[in-house]
Amino acid sequence: MSGLSINAVTKRFGDFNAVDDVSLAVPHGTFVCLLGPSGCGKTTLLRMIAGLEEPSAGTIALDGADITGVPTHKRNFGMVFQSLALFPHLSVGENISYALRIRGAPKEEQKKRVEELLALIDLPGFADRPVAKLSGGQRQRVAIARALALSPKLFLLDEPLSALDAKLRETMQVELRQLQQRLGITTIVVTHDQREAMTMADLVVVMGKGRILQAAPPIEIYRKPADAFVADFIGITNLLPAETDDAGRATVLGQAIAGLKLPAGTTKASLSVRPEDVRITAPGAGALTGTVNFVRDLGGTIETFVDVGGKTVISVATPRERPEVSVGQQVGLVLPPESCVVLKS
Ligand code: ATP
Repeated sequence: MSGLSINAVTKRFGDFNAVDDVSLAVPHGTFVCLLGPSGCGKTTLLRMIAGLEEPSAGTIALDGADITGVPTHKRNFGMVFQSLALFPHLSVGENISYALRIRGAPKEEQKKRVEELLALIDLPGFADRPVAKLSGGQRQRVAIARALALSPKLFLLDEPLSALDAKLRETMQVELRQLQQRLGITTIVVTHDQREAMTMADLVVVMGKGRILQAAPPIEIYRKPADAFVADFIGITNLLPAETDDAGRATVLGQAIAGLKLPAGTTKASLSVRPEDVRITAPGAGALTGTVNFVRDLGGTIETFVDVGGKTVISVATPRERPEVSVGQQVGLVLPPESCVVLKS
């Protein structure tokens, strides 16, 4: 296969499996985000792909060739880590051309490549600037350019944007994705930020406890999460208990939902319904009835928190759809059956 192939890879530290029997196929040119909570094994998996850590079991192949035992410096992968490790005493240009210099590339070639890369990261004319004089975002771009200097076959980044403030981080996410698309380079980024993953990735790999819980395009993960953990980790969701009553109807929080079907033989399940799919209506007119206990108006969106039998259900609307409700008011909630995802529990 053209691309990266991870085959039943496990990494054990003592008797603890940091990565546990992970398999993943990454077609050439794909942008992958490894996403999950702290300690789920994302970095360890990336380090094995980079050759910085040896798998305890399993193999890793690139374009059909087994690279499991190939040392890092022979893989030609570009890497950017959380701590950028730019050389502070060198200029921008010297940082970017570092790997070329070590390989003995002629001065002219180094200069040309530095110019190409500075154009790519939108910092033309920065070659002679001291690294210490750059802003956080500029440093980040230089680290990316340096990692791309040798035209790597694979681009690996571990939490590359985590040191930046929220606004710059969002801008850099878009820049990084656009850069990757221009170059068509297979890229794997570790992040614990679901919004970052959804902005950049073709393929989001959600991990938990060393295993892959779901690997799919971002919107598929959002719309069809594999389980409650994934549903809760990706965006905001209402996780609601559902049951089949004696008459065979599906009920949520004790109230029957017309048109909702639980899988045959299921008496208890968990439903995920995204807040933007929950609509507020008059009491009795929706599937559920509850009492508004909080309204958060964020300008661009309005979140209404509704207490239904002790459980809070959140509905999100745009200002144009603004529900005219206030705290203490009884309301109905419409849960469109097609937006309710029945989860494995
Ligand atoms: P974070 O987002 O916090 O970086 P992560 O998902 O990247 O987390 P890893 O760094 O891959 O997680 O670590 C996974 C697990 O393996 C953790 O429990 C960690 O403590 C453990 N681990 C990682 N490296 C080693 C090591 N060299 N020796 C022992 N345990 C390790």
